[in-house]
Amino acid sequence: MNVFDFYNGHTKVYGIIGNPIEHSFSPVLQNTILQTTGFNGVYVPFKVEEKDIKKAVEGLYALGFEGLNVTVPHKISVMNCLCGIDETARKVGAVNTLKRTENGFKGYNTDILGLKKSFSINKIEVKGKKTMLLGAGGAANSAAVLLAELGAEKIVFVNRTKEKAEALKNHISSFYNGKTDVISFDDIYTYEKPDIVVNATSVGMGEGVWQSPVKEDSFFKGIEAVFDVIYIPWETKLLNDAKKFGCKCVNGFDMLIYQGIASYEIWHDISVSDNMAVEIKDSLSQYFLKGGNNK
Ligand code: NDP
Repeated sequence: MNVFDFYNGHTKVYGIIGNPIEHSFSPVLQNTILQTTGFNGVYVPFKVEEKDIKKAVEGLYALGFEGLNVTVPHKISVMNCLCGIDETARKVGAVNTLKRTENGFKGYNTDILGLKKSFSINKIEVKGKKTMLLGAGGAANSAAVLLAELGAEKIVFVNRTKEKAEALKNHISSFYNGKTDVISFDDIYTYEKPDIVVNATSVGMGEGVWQSPVKEDSFFKGIEAVFDVIYIPWETKLLNDAKKFGCKCVNGFDMLIYQGIASYEIWHDISVSDNMAVEIKDSLSQYFLKGGNNK
């Protein structure tokens, strides 16, 4: 790749807004996608305070940004700054991708698309299955909508703060006809065994690394597949425990990569080929396994 071919007067600009933003993987991910696809574009991170979100979105539109990603804590508040919101993003209740249109930015949610792709390539079959969703935050919202859309027979919501699980269950029940229930973490060991467990809590990363929201590992006996949205560490305690009982275990890395590819596809109205997606994933997993963003 030659720098003379890039960053000229034709360069399209993309970015991500969030706070904090320093640890975001998206600049590396999106610039890798831009390079791999050979597109003359650049992607940059912006730390934006909550009080400045409207000004930032308007300013980036005025500067001609073609697309943006939005991360914590702006995924909900940014919805008030858009000219339209895609149907799926509205169902999830959060937006992480903005696409430039004639009238302003339109909002999309690609976390759910990344999760869907990860289920598909890792052959996690949800249709007709009993599922258990741990967590009721942003990632859990995407997972819940996806489990419903993929035709799970049942979704059991488990969260430390039970009211949030109740609220998510009520929201999902407004368009999902399958069975639902809300239970506490203490109840999961005696409750009817699910086929698929999705961990969408943040337990197991950051300060809680090598902790698991599931305290008794025998819980995993007889469970078909366990998906953890976390990708740092590569294998959480939860996945390590589940692996011992023969469960199919998938971490959040594919979800992360494919949500980024989905944003790129939305911005460019194209479909990235499977081969190119694998090329992007391979170069990023090398980067990731070497320590990633800790530079
Ligand atoms: P939120 O802050 O919205 O939600 C966090 C969830 O974790 C809540 O359900 C919270 O429960 C639960 N939780 C936190 N601490 C504990 C604890 N000590 N015990 C039990 N439950 C706890 O975060 P997000 O949903 O945005 O992110 C969750 C995880 O998903 C993060 O690790 C994030 O990195 C990952 N993620 C991965 C993506 C990917 O592409 N792979 C995309 C997006 C997120 P409570 O409601 O009680 O506070």
